[in-house]
Order: sequence, then structure tokens, then C-alpha cells
Amino acid sequence: MFHAFRRPKVDQAKLEQALVQLGLDGSQHLIVHSSLKSFGHLEGGAGTVVRALKRHSATLMMPAFSYYSLVWPLEHHQRDWPHPPPSSSGHFDRFTRVSRDIGKVSQYMVEDMRHQRSKHPALSFVAWGQHSDMLLAHQSLQNPYGPIGALYDLNGYVLLLGVNHTSNTSMHYGEYLAGQVLLPRFVNLNEQIHQTLFPNCSAAFERAAPYLAKLGRTVSLERAKIQLFSVRDVIDTTLELVRQDPEFLICTHADCRCREVRRRVRLEGLHPRPHFTPLEGLRERELV
Ligand SMILES: [Zn+2]
Repeated sequence: MFHAFRRPKVDQAKLEQALVQLGLDGSQHLIVHSSLKSFGHLEGGAGTVVRALKRHSATLMMPAFSYYSLVWPLEHHQRDWPHPPPSSSGHFDRFTRVSRDIGKVSQYMVEDMRHQRSKHPALSFVAWGQHSDMLLAHQSLQNPYGPIGALYDLNGYVLLLGVNHTSNTSMHYGEYLAGQVLLPRFVNLNEQIHQTLFPNCSAAFERAAPYLAKLGRTVSLERAKIQLFSVRDVIDTTLELVRQDPEFLICTHADCRCREVRRRVRLEGLHPRPHFTPLEGLRERELV
């Protein structure tokens, strides 16, 4: 006799049960980062995740970044650009595919016409629900993570589905407020080249985990760990960590743009930025 290997199996009911355990009752505003693979076998894939999340949130937002839509104009060459820079048409539209590391759940959100997507060619967000319009209207080229600032004002939550803080985009908004160096990057918007600002990468963000652990809630679902944090805790903690050590969340890979962020923050220090109010943000509806 032998027993067949049991593949962990998660379905929508089990996933919803986990969301309820975390306290998600449908009234919360969420930014979600997820890895389908982390669940083992998830019945129904990305669609199951999105359906479950919609039943337990009032507003649902995810990054829908498409980094390959950046353009690299020679006349704006920066010292930290790759050699040679990748070729890119800079094309972006409502259905442009998300970058592979952003994941299949975000891609599923993008493919549904009923969801809204902001217009930043490289750093768009996709959203559904009560405050989706308002959140996305807070994005500008100079403040691409503005929707997370707006989620802070709504007292929203960060949900990490089988991923750790290296996927926790909201931490970038804490860096923004702390005044971390942002790097110039370029996008093609309405057939014109515009400058936007890019943060360091998030490879070192798990260093914040010990400081955030006591502030969040965690449940396990088969192989996956699901964590919930208030956006305010994530951003306030990040802000404090960067204030104490501006290099704490900057990765050490030799060929990462983080090297340029480190060089510049050592020279220039931090230049804290204000957290704008919802009213100010709405003026930036046209993105530039
Ligand atoms: Zn890096």
C-alpha cells in the first residue's frame, strides 16, 4: 500500500475563511500583493483570488506596473542607467501587460474592463470598488505612489498573500515621505517624453519585518502565509526606519539602481516631502 502524494489544495471557501480570520468583513480598503504559486494548488487560479477579495473588501487596489514601458532618451542619460539601455517603444494603454514579477492576480485585474487602471505608463495601479476613482486620481509622475498616500488617509490595509515585504509597495510611500532620493526615469505619455521619479528597489524591504511583525495579523493557508497590516503602520514604520538610517532599506546588489540612491543620499541626505491632502491630489488627475 502506498498513499498518493497529497497536493495542498486551496479553494475560494478556504481563502475566504482565512480573510474572515484576519478580520476582513467587506468594509476595508485594501492594497493586495500576491503570489499564486505560494498556495500550492489554488482552484480557479487568479480569478478565485479576485472574487474572494471582492467579497471581503470595499475597495481593492493592486500594483499593475509595466517597467518595460520606461523609455531611455539619450539626451536625458543618467549615470545609473543600464548599458546598453533596453529598447522600448514606451507604448502603454489600458490593457498593457503587467511585468512578470507583479504577478498573475494583478494581470487578471487588468484584463477585466470593469476595473480601473491609472495612466502612469510604468507604475500604474488597478483598482475596483468604493474609492477606486479617488485613489487612482492621486497618482502623478512626480508622486507615482500617491494612491498609497490616499489609502493612508482612508485608513486602508496592506494584504500580503503568500509574499513578504519585498513585495510591499506601500513602503515606498514611507520612503517618499522620509525624503529618500528618487531617481529620474522617463515615460512616453500622450506622445511626449516626460520625467517621472523612481524609488530604490524593494529587495531589502524584508529587513523591516521584525519591526512590522507585532503590528500585523497573520494566518496560514496550506503552504502560504497571509499577512495583514494597516497602511498607516507600514508607512509610519518605514518613515521611522529611513529617518534613523537612510540606507537601511537600500539593497546591496552591485548592479542595482540602489547603488546610485545610496551614493546620492550619502551626499545629499534626506529631503522630507509633505503628505498631500486628498484635495491637492485630485488636481493631479491628468497625471502631469
Ligand atoms: Zn536594489
